[in-house]
Amino acid sequence: MSKYAAGKEVISYCGKCKLALSHTIVSMKDPSTIGKVECRTCKATHAYKDPSTKTKKVKSRSMIPGGKSKSMSVNDLWTEEIGKAQGKPITYSIRHTFSAGDMVDHKSFGLGIVQGIVDGKIEVLFQHDIKTLVHDK
Ligand SMILES: [Zn+2]
Repeated sequence: MSKYAAGKEVISYCGKCKLALSHTIVSMKDPSTIGKVECRTCKATHAYKDPSTKTKKVKSRSMIPGGKSKSMSVNDLWTEEIGKAQGKPITYSIRHTFSAGDMVDHKSFGLGIVQGIVDGKIEVLFQHDIKTLVHDK
């Protein structure tokens, strides 16, 4: 016996809501395969989409500009990174060689965390912005 049947509830991925949501089964393809479902949130009827194949998102660890998380502001990221940072801040100087994870104390931008090295420059996450700074001169 299949646990699925028309009229029953199932979690399906909704292409309109872009979420895995509760749907009502509208029709079955065969006794074990769900055909169409109706989204209880937006009321759209569409083919059943297994949420486990649609909602997996690769969480990027990259915080360099362009790869910035859309759900977090720079300020949120900064707060998180400062909380994780170890050691003492290094006063920023173009003569110092920084590496990813270093805490930087910049006289104009304040405290920042080196996110990575791009083309020989450091990408530093400050409280309000991400800056590219020269180092290792
Ligand atoms: Zn929907």
